[in-house]
Amino acid sequence: MNDDRRGQAGRGQPLSARGLRLCSLFGIDIFLDSSLLIIFVLIVYMLSSAVFPDWHPDWEASTTWLVAMAAGVLFFASLLAHELAHSLMSRRFGVEVHRITLFLFGGMAEMEDEPREPRAEFLVAIVGPLTSLALGVLFSVIGTSMAGPDFAGLLDEDREAALASLSPLATLMLWLGPVNIVLGVFNLIPGFPLDGGRVFRAVVWWLTGDLQRATRLATEAGRMFGWFMIILGVLQAISGLLLQGLWLVLIGWFLSNTASASYRMLVLRDLLDGVKARDLMRSRFGTVSPQMRVEDFVENHLMQSPQLLWPVLEEEHLIGLVTLEEVRKVPAGDRDMTTLGQVMRTDLGTLTLAPETDARRTFELLAVGGLPLAVVERGRVLGLLSGADAAKWLVLHQR
Ligand SMILES: [Zn+2]
Repeated sequence: MNDDRRGQAGRGQPLSARGLRLCSLFGIDIFLDSSLLIIFVLIVYMLSSAVFPDWHPDWEASTTWLVAMAAGVLFFASLLAHELAHSLMSRRFGVEVHRITLFLFGGMAEMEDEPREPRAEFLVAIVGPLTSLALGVLFSVIGTSMAGPDFAGLLDEDREAALASLSPLATLMLWLGPVNIVLGVFNLIPGFPLDGGRVFRAVVWWLTGDLQRATRLATEAGRMFGWFMIILGVLQAISGLLLQGLWLVLIGWFLSNTASASYRMLVLRDLLDGVKARDLMRSRFGTVSPQMRVEDFVENHLMQSPQLLWPVLEEEHLIGLVTLEEVRKVPAGDRDMTTLGQVMRTDLGTLTLAPETDARRTFELLAVGGLPLAVVERGRVLGLLSGADAAKWLVLHQR
């Protein structure tokens, strides 16, 4: 039991933890990736130096800046609402989301698992863009009503005067509205990994009953759309709109890349479904005793074998682990007097796991530590597991 718990140590605290934890909403941790700062600065800069001065030449700099900052913050709040919609819908279908990360290209809800049926996938995917569209309409309606009944007519006649007449709050709403609508429409593009790609995949999956084929089609569409954006961006850049063009190229490149990467991820996920640490481990390995001298260990064990992680056993029970790291810390002159029991690691949590740990979790643990792991059940070491062992398994089981 004890070791099972050890093996699960760290579950719930994400291993890919990057960025800053902002808050927790509906039991979901909201994280901000550091790349978000770049896009926030860019948005605020663009708004305060170009968009708002164009709408309101008479505004004071401080007003322009304040509205631009508020717009930046509310933009990210809108992204968050979009991701929360995915997460809450996903929860309704029994797939938990523990964490949402907002990053350069929007947000990402980290789901524990893929939806298991087309209807769930469809609803989980489509609710995000629908939220963005709804927010877009809401902000636009609020902004227009704040602008007054004559605003639309005035906008047709004299755009500059119409925009200049807007209050700061109405300006904010009338910028956020269209932006959210664009966000919603962009995400509905039927290329994986965009939401529209997931919707498309769910429909094909539902029509054909073939998830693999649906995934392949949606990925192809995503890649094609990415390339389309790159070509469009290059054409724009050539025709003089350098910045807009480069921006399109960047997004297109990101899209086509993530399309391929998420396809590989999905194939891997299917492959690893139901596979446990027990299946991936190697059960022939060497062990050492706590009384062994470090010198003896280095010369007769560590240097004689490719094994990197050595379980230290006392009466068959795991009491510690030794790696190169512990040995390296002992000065060469002291190695004949020091025992492994004195230098071994005793905090086993990060280097051990239970045999029933699922393969995905196992891969995460391997990636984090960069060290092999010991598979432990009730204090007994059943096997060792390294990245190379897992890779061997993958090569043998790939279709
Ligand atoms: Zn989405």
